[in-house]
Amino acid sequence: MSAVLLDARGLEIGYGASVVVKGVDLAVGAGQIVCLIGANGAGKTTILRGVSGLLKIRAGSVTFDGETLTNRPAHVIARKKIAHVPEGRQIFAQMSVAENLLAGAYLERDAAEIERRREKALARFPRLKERLSQSAGLLSGGEQQMLAIARALMAGPKLLLLDEPSMGLAPLFVEEIFSIIKSLKDEGRTILLVEQNAHAALEIADHAYVLENGRIKLQGSGREMLEHDDISAAYLGG
Ligand code: ADP
Repeated sequence: MSAVLLDARGLEIGYGASVVVKGVDLAVGAGQIVCLIGANGAGKTTILRGVSGLLKIRAGSVTFDGETLTNRPAHVIARKKIAHVPEGRQIFAQMSVAENLLAGAYLERDAAEIERRREKALARFPRLKERLSQSAGLLSGGEQQMLAIARALMAGPKLLLLDEPSMGLAPLFVEEIFSIIKSLKDEGRTILLVEQNAHAALEIADHAYVLENGRIKLQGSGREMLEHDDISAAYLGG
């Protein structure tokens, strides 16, 4: 395995009185796509929220690039080049596409670097290039999801946390999203992906964790998980 970029040990995270992530260990190698699959409510989103600093980690630790990030504030974690794309196409609907992109680079001061990232993002998402001056709220669902990812890329992240990027999208967009995720890996980014679309996610995953009720039930390469009897029955409709 490549050098470990993100290392989470014994994670416990919850809401109010309920603990929903119950002692999870996970590692994401630099340059890998690692995916979390499991039934609704298993705790996948909660893990991403803990890693990105949106939720308190009650026990355990998160190390990123050799540095402890456990319970650092979200903006500090963002500065370390971890970008989180939450579920549900969270874009600034009243702002233009161009303004959304710029907002993603809010931590970067170097105008030339911002422009470089913008050019790169627009080359990757040509649909957005045609609609830069339009309100983001007028984009289709698939385009909004592309914009949410493009905005995260404007932060120049080493690690992208993607929560259900294909949720609710037309099949054509689903295919495009997975091909984009793969191309992000090919350019050296590291991705921690949460997906209900387990089959497509496992196809591109270097490693996968299967969560059940806040715990890791199984793990292995994407291929191993695709071929695992328990997985095909439970998650792939096989
Ligand atoms: P998954 O992403 O695997 O579907 P989640 O991490 O979203 O699972 O949810 C895990 C559990 O935490 C579920 O029981 C869910 O109801 C609960 N939960 C999620 N978000 C909240 C919240 N904001 N407040 C209280 N409970 C929550």
